[in-house]
Amino acid sequence: MNKTVTLIAGDGIGPAITAASVAVLEAAGAQVEWDRRDAGMAAVEAHNDPLPADTLASIRRNRVVWKGPLTTPVGVGFRSINVALRKEFDLYANVRPARTLLPGGRYDDIDLVLIRENTEGLYVGVEHYIGMGDDPRAAAESVMIITRFGAERIVRYAFEYALSHGRRKVTLAHKANILKYTQGLFLEEGNRIAKEYAGRIDYEDRIIDATAMHLVLNPYQFDVLVMENMFGDILSDLGAGLVGGMGMAPCAEIGERHGLFQSAHGSAPDIAGQGIANPTAMLLSGALMLDWLGAQHNDDACTEAARMLEQAIKEGFRANAIRPVEQGGDQGTMQVAQAVIERL
Ligand code: NAD
Repeated sequence: MNKTVTLIAGDGIGPAITAASVAVLEAAGAQVEWDRRDAGMAAVEAHNDPLPADTLASIRRNRVVWKGPLTTPVGVGFRSINVALRKEFDLYANVRPARTLLPGGRYDDIDLVLIRENTEGLYVGVEHYIGMGDDPRAAAESVMIITRFGAERIVRYAFEYALSHGRRKVTLAHKANILKYTQGLFLEEGNRIAKEYAGRIDYEDRIIDATAMHLVLNPYQFDVLVMENMFGDILSDLGAGLVGGMGMAPCAEIGERHGLFQSAHGSAPDIAGQGIANPTAMLLSGALMLDWLGAQHNDDACTEAARMLEQAIKEGFRANAIRPVEQGGDQGTMQVAQAVIERL
C-alpha cells in the first residue's frame, strides 16, 4: 500500500537536494506518494507565514514529513520552523546516526547513533534578564527543565531503538556530578530503565565532557548514546565531524505518532543554485524515513528499500563511484543521485 509523505522542498539548496533525493527513493522502489507543501521562505513569499496551516494539517494527516533545510527568516515575528514543528508534534527523540561512508578519512568504520532528547533541558526557552542598578541586563538566567516523564521516554526510546536495530550497548552521557538535580534526575531515570533491559543491551553512564574526549580518542567503544537536549545538540555535530561533516549527516525527529526526516545541515545559501550541493545527508534521511515507515506499517518491502538505499550509498562511496564536490570530488547534486541510482 502506498504511503503518503508530506514533502517540503525547503530553501537555498533544499529544492535541488530534495528533487535529487526523490528521484533516488523512487528508483529504490519506495511505495510512497508525495504531498508537496510549502514552508520557509517560499511560504513567506506566498502566504506571509513560514509555516502555513495547510502544511501543518498535511503533516498531521500523513504523520510523516520529509523536508529540505529551511532558512529561518531573521526578524521579529518569525519563529524557527524546526522548533515549531518539534513542539507541534512533540517530536521528542532526535536520532542522529554517524556512519563512515568515505574511506580514508580521519577514522574508518565509525558506526554510532546519537539519540538526543528534543523537547526539554535548557532549550525550553525559559530565560530572562535580571536588572541591577541602572543596567536592565546585568545578568541573564536560563532554566534547565528535566522531567521524569521526558527522561524516561527518551531513555526507553534509546533502548528500544538498540533492540530493534541489532545494537549492543547504550551509553547515557550526563553531568550529574555538577547539576545534581536536573542531570541527577536524568541519570536516575536512565539507571532505572536500563535494569529492564539488563542481559539484552549493555549499559553504562559517563560524564559528558569525558564522553566528548573519548568520542575523539576511541569512538569505536560507543554504540548508541543518549543524552539531554543541549549535550545532544553539541555531540551530534561532533558525530557528524567524525564521519566527514554535515553533508553526510541525516536526522530523524520522532514523536509518539509523527516522524520528521531531514538532513542535519542548513540551507547553504552560499552555494544555492550552483548545482554542487551534496544530497547524501538528505538521501540518508530518506533511508531513515523508509525504515521508520516500514516499522510503523509492518511493511517489510519498505524496510528492505531503506536497507538497499543505505547499502547502495555505502558501496558507492567505497567503490569511488560517488564523489560529491563537498567531499573533494567532482560530482554535482544530480550526478551524485545518478551514481546512487546506478548502484541500486
Ligand atoms: P549550513 O549548514 O546551511 O551551511 C554551513 C556550511 O556548510 C556552508 O558553507 C554550506 O555551503 C555548507 N554546506 C551545508 N550543507 C551542504 C551540502 N549539502 N553540500 C555542500 N555544502 C554544504 O549552515 P548555516 O549557514 O549556519 O545556515 C544557513 C541557513 O540554514 C540558516 O537560515 C539556518 O537557520 C538554516 N538551518 C536550517 C536547518 C534545517 O532546516 N534543518 C538546519 C540548520 C540551519
